[in-house]
Amino acid sequence: MEIINRRQRMASLARKLRREHKVIGFVPTMGALHKGHLKLVQNARQMSDIVIVSIFVNPTQFNESDDFETYPRDLTADAALLAEYNVDYVFTPDAKDIYGENFSTYVTVDDLSEKLEGASRPGHFRGVATVVTILFNTIRPDFGYFGQKDAQQVAIIKRLTQNLGFETEIIVVPIVREKSGLAMSSRNELLTSEQREAASIIYKSLLEVEIATEKGVRNTTKLAEIVRNEIETEPLANIDYIAVVDNKTLDPIEKIGENPVLVAVAARFGEIRLIDNIVLNKKQ
Ligand code: AMP
Repeated sequence: MEIINRRQRMASLARKLRREHKVIGFVPTMGALHKGHLKLVQNARQMSDIVIVSIFVNPTQFNESDDFETYPRDLTADAALLAEYNVDYVFTPDAKDIYGENFSTYVTVDDLSEKLEGASRPGHFRGVATVVTILFNTIRPDFGYFGQKDAQQVAIIKRLTQNLGFETEIIVVPIVREKSGLAMSSRNELLTSEQREAASIIYKSLLEVEIATEKGVRNTTKLAEIVRNEIETEPLANIDYIAVVDNKTLDPIEKIGENPVLVAVAARFGEIRLIDNIVLNKKQ
């Protein structure tokens, strides 16, 4: 496994690999790797000749500089994990290399970016869309791997790839969960053990809603209420939002129809904000 710091070198290496007709799988991350990230890597390993993982804490997707400064960074531990998973290249550019002098070009996926997470994190998805565009342009992977954990990010990246004509196929990897059902996240480490236990209520509420739809409930107000009622049984949980929306457009819907429906939840446990989701009515 080789660690590459420079964008130029990454680009020329990727060019060489493409000339050799290697299938390139690319997993973008911000490091602090856990089993959720590693699932993406495993998927990439199965489907590709060459696996490239980027570790880049992207400044443009943070609203508060504090959050950016305190984001966990441990390249040594991350690199050791990635070597175990037979990754070929780890791309760790620094911010100056990605956002060079005179940087003024941003990618905004209108409409999808302002909803749900976008409402409480202005500019976040512009930062995500911009860095993914730069990384895709540098590497030009055959496959790009993203976690369903960040459902809105998935919708945005799929739209971006289609709109800008990238030849990268987006592969979405299901949410990896702790035993309790809590979706894996680097933020889980910041919870007290009591909060961490309490946070499993989110997944329980999503399972409730799945059962309700299987029983024939179609009204989305009713479905959101089921999620709310379940989460409110947990005194440590503070709901930020519960959204029942079209999985592709993220538009609110009244009744479950033909298309897949995303039930997305954001809730705080103390200071820590967690997100989770489930897709109903998935087409097989
Ligand atoms: P991050 O480093 O937080 O930007 O995450 C990098 C990628 O890992 C994103 O595509 C996330 O959606 C994905 N990811 C994070 N947590 C999980 C999880 N629990 N299950 C599946 N994918 C995840």
